[in-house]
Order: sequence, then structure tokens, then C-alpha cells
Amino acid sequence: MKILVAEDDPVSLKILESILTDSGYEVILAKNGKEALDVLSLNNSPKLAILDWLMPEMDGIEVCKAIRQLNKEPYIYIILLTVKNDIKDIITGLESGADDYILKPFNPDELKVRLRVGQRIINLHEELIATREVLRDLAARDSLTGAWNRITIWEMLEMEINRSKRVREHLGIIMSDIDHFKLINDKYGHITGDIVLREVVKRIKGSLRIYSGVGRYGGEEFLIILPGCNIDNTFKIAERIRKIIESFPIETPKGLIKVTMSFGISSMSPQEELSAITLVNSADEALYIAKQKGRNRVEKARPIKN
Ligand code: GH3
Ligand code: MG
Ligand code: MG
Ligand code: MG
Repeated sequence: MKILVAEDDPVSLKILESILTDSGYEVILAKNGKEALDVLSLNNSPKLAILDWLMPEMDGIEVCKAIRQLNKEPYIYIILLTVKNDIKDIITGLESGADDYILKPFNPDELKVRLRVGQRIINLHEELIATREVLRDLAARDSLTGAWNRITIWEMLEMEINRSKRVREHLGIIMSDIDHFKLINDKYGHITGDIVLREVVKRIKGSLRIYSGVGRYGGEEFLIILPGCNIDNTFKIAERIRKIIESFPIETPKGLIKVTMSFGISSMSPQEELSAITLVNSADEALYIAKQKGRNRVEKARPIKN
């Protein structure tokens, strides 16, 4: 594990370095508070830091405060090293954002156990972050298909509309719906219907670039967001998805099932100022027309009037 040591006294620094290196830490040295802050501000900075309180340029307390203001993740565990043993000083130190302190001259064994405490906190914090990320992802997705859920795809659409306006890019969307899905459920059962839904999403995802998004908009209805795509590119992508679903019947325990899908597409040019609702409604109308015209087809939205 990497550890940052900031200490202006060369003798003390040497002693610290040798204890820490012997204990298996990879030591990064800083001669003053300013250097320490620079290193700790980096993305891949050490998660453990030992800061001398009294240092030129920036003292340990100032470094602590600055680091806490950054609100960094992962957390940086900070131990202050100090000759100040007055209770008031200790309170000041901990209030500045330090997690622990060690009085100079220090006992090497005490330093080692305190570092192990720090490491325990860091490990717990990392586990917490990892769990939070898993939960965040789960909450954003539809559990059956793994597509984004309706709330998330809406948020993404609104973000993409803003981004497209800002960078003056086209934005395409596809509203897609499985044809006669009710019949599939009725004939093969709901569980087989679920298998079909999952496979459909897999094929849609497989037809998209990474920065496109697919969300489950309704039961068997999916909204696809295509950053940078004008209406013609959007049409091509919808056609690609339509074909890949039509061409290969879906394998299920009940046998091969032929599935088709209908698509309504719409797009926004850099000159337009459209809302998410307007864009989705126009794609929805086109989807309705695709259904009316016999399904298994892609229809473009009529030009949108503001
Ligand atoms: P159309 O071609 O006009 O879209 O016809 P459709 O049968 O696909 O449309 P309809 O809206 O009548 O039926 C959609 C069906 O999707 C009804 C509903 O039971 C089914 N459905 C919705 N969510 C799920 C799901 O999570 N799993 C399964 N198996 N079926 C679902
Ligand atoms: Mg000092
Ligand atoms: Mg349908
Ligand atoms: Mg539907």
C-alpha cells in the first residue's frame, strides 16, 4: 500500500521512511505541506497520509482542511504527527479533518498499529463504495432485461438533449415495440415471454455503440438514444435492429420463436430546441403508424413543429 509522508525534518523523515518501508509500505515523500497536498490531490493518490503538523509553506492542519474540502473518493486517512500534546491542540488537529495523531518522538510499534487501524478504515470504506456502486447500478436498471429503467432512460434523454445542444450535434431516438407480444405470452407462457424480452434487449444492445443507451420504456417497449445520429443514421440503426430480430428466431425451451418488432424514429438537429417529451411523442406517433402499416417496419416521425 502507498503511503504519503510529509515531514520537513530530514532526520525524522529518514526514520519514518525506514520503519514504513520495513513494514511493506511504498513510501512517497513530501518535504512540505504544499508538496503533500499536490500528491494527495492526484486521482490515484495514496489513501494513507502521515503529515507533520509544523511544516513550511503549508502546515499539516492546512493540508488536512484542504483535503477534506476536496471531498475525495476513495477516502484519505490522515495521521498528524506532532510535538503539540496539549488537549486543545489535539482537538484542533482532529477538527481540521485528521483521523488520528501521534506525538513526537513516536514509538515505532505504536505507529505501526495506528497505521493498521487506518488501513482497516480504508478497506471498509472501499467495500462501502463498491456496494454503493452495485446498488446504484441495480436501482438504475430493469431487473428482467438489464436495460436502463424508465426513470433512468428519461434522465439520460434529458442529459443527452442538453449535451447535443451544447456541442451542436444531432440526436436520434428510437421507440420500439415487440409485435403481437401478447400472442407470444398466450401461446408459450409468461416465462418464455420473459426469455424473449431478454434476448431482444441483448440483440438491441449488440447493435449499438457503447455511448448509445437502451431503456425499458414499458412492458415490451424500448427507448433507444443515439447521440450524434441524424434521422438517416437513426433509420439505419433501427433497420439493423429490426433485421437482426426478424432474421433469427429466438431459442427458448419451448422451441424457436419468430419475433418481429416495430420502430418509430425521431431526431433533433443542432438548430432545434426540443424537449424530451416532444421528441418521444413524435417517435411514439411514428411507432403507431408502423403498427398500422402492418408492423415489422421502421417509420420516421413527421417533421416537428415548435
Ligand atoms: P402490438 O403488436 O400492437 O404491440 O401488440 P402486443 O400484443 O405486443 O401489445 P399489447 O400492448 O397488447 O401487449 C403487450 C403485452 O406485453 C401484454 C403484457 O402482458 C406483456 N408484458 C408486459 N410486460 C411483460 C413482462 O415483463 N414479461 C412478459 N412475459 N410479458 C410482459
Ligand atoms: Mg516540522
Ligand atoms: Mg407490442
Ligand atoms: Mg406495447
